[in-house]
Amino acid sequence: MDYTRFKYGRVFVCGRCRQAIFNEEGVVSESSGLLNIRKLLPGSAQIRGEGVLCKNCGGLLGSVKRENGDKTYIIDGGGIISVLPEIFEKYFKDAIFACGCFWGVEYQFRKVVGIVYTRVGYCGGTKHNPSYEKVKSGTTGHKEAVHVLYDLPGDKL
Ligand SMILES: [Zn+2]
Repeated sequence: MDYTRFKYGRVFVCGRCRQAIFNEEGVVSESSGLLNIRKLLPGSAQIRGEGVLCKNCGGLLGSVKRENGDKTYIIDGGGIISVLPEIFEKYFKDAIFACGCFWGVEYQFRKVVGIVYTRVGYCGGTKHNPSYEKVKSGTTGHKEAVHVLYDLPGDKL
């Protein structure tokens, strides 16, 4: 397996129950212990009035901010835990799906409740760290693949 392209940023989980709430891709900015978030993970939180609540335990995580028609979320860093990629295995499970074209498969996975993070890359093959063009040529033996981090009660993926 060639994992070289599966690079990740942080995942942020609820400080009370460890439910994954958003990942690095959703972060617009951080300052003074507050995170401005563009996108929350599917099914991770609920909006009640102007409050952002953990869907699992109901803990208050922050507030909704509307500016120029765009909706973002202001999350209090005191209510969440930042999980670094080095310790993902303590929090999440993972799986690799070899597929025809990784973009379409990744797009669908990102809408699934319980998916914490996705990355596209290659698996199998003989050449280390091949370029996209080499893989597309069919000469390296690699398959396009989607690496999925997930967190589901009972491993129901
Ligand atoms: Zn929670």
